[in-house]
Amino acid sequence: MSKELNIPACGEPGIVTRDTQLYSPDTCARELAQLNRRYPGVTALALVGTSHLGQPIYALKMGNDGAGRRVLVQAAMHGREWINAQLVMTQIEDYLSGEEYAPLLDEACFLLVPMCNPDGVRIAQEGAGWIEDEEARALVEDLIARSGQAHDQWKANGRGVDLNRNFDARFAEQTDPRETAGPAYAFYRGERAESEPETQALVQLTLEFQPTVTLSYHSRGEYIYWYFGQSGEALRRDEALALRLANLAGYACDPSGKAEIDSFGGYKDWCVQALGIPAFTVETGKAAWGVPVPIERFAEIYPSCRELTAEAAREK
Ligand SMILES: [Zn+2]
Repeated sequence: MSKELNIPACGEPGIVTRDTQLYSPDTCARELAQLNRRYPGVTALALVGTSHLGQPIYALKMGNDGAGRRVLVQAAMHGREWINAQLVMTQIEDYLSGEEYAPLLDEACFLLVPMCNPDGVRIAQEGAGWIEDEEARALVEDLIARSGQAHDQWKANGRGVDLNRNFDARFAEQTDPRETAGPAYAFYRGERAESEPETQALVQLTLEFQPTVTLSYHSRGEYIYWYFGQSGEALRRDEALALRLANLAGYACDPSGKAEIDSFGGYKDWCVQALGIPAFTVETGKAAWGVPVPIERFAEIYPSCRELTAEAAREK
């Protein structure tokens, strides 16, 4: 931990906020520090990057660092999907506090980045008013205006780059009629692969941690994406795990992977292509609920997803 946090005393049984609210980067950081204090033996908290607009990006390591099963989890890569930061934080607290998870924390290691796009989250939650740098604030205000939508629809980072198109996986081949030639509230891939500090932080963290599987929580659609051109044994392995996760959550997935051929530049795509590991994008919440998924739906989303991160660490 290299950032000072103002940490309230721990007195309540529950640390992570589960009721209705806008789950902010500050709340997330404070609760990560509280979890780390309450469970010092099995957790380690680290500052792993800084966003374009200067906000810290944190990762919590949990479990047995010497274990062979290594799961990297990231959420809120798209600003408006901040409900999934709350989801990952709730998983962390449930796994740390539930006796039934003790064997798993002995056999596996988890590295969790609950909010990897804190600038995008704040823009989606608050608009541009909090941005101190005048030029940066004017850009975000302009991009919100040009989007023709409210600030709560914002997906990109603080520079108008869609982080889940900025990874080095078929980066140059992306074709999406919605993408603009420059920064936007969503869909713009960036000038080059890994141009963004948030992308760089996640790539470096992944290479250091060497996960055996990764999970990315997005919203929405109750769907699990897994395919990015795998073949042979990797195809069979990843398909089997995708089906296991989908069955567990009651979510859909395409066993053939054919529906996912248009994937580009995503974190999941990069993990499959560059690292050769199974990687999943979990789209939480029903499509009909709209975006951002109303926080009132959290109590409906969470029970379906509670076991997904744990399941990814289990060998069957
Ligand atoms: Zn997303």
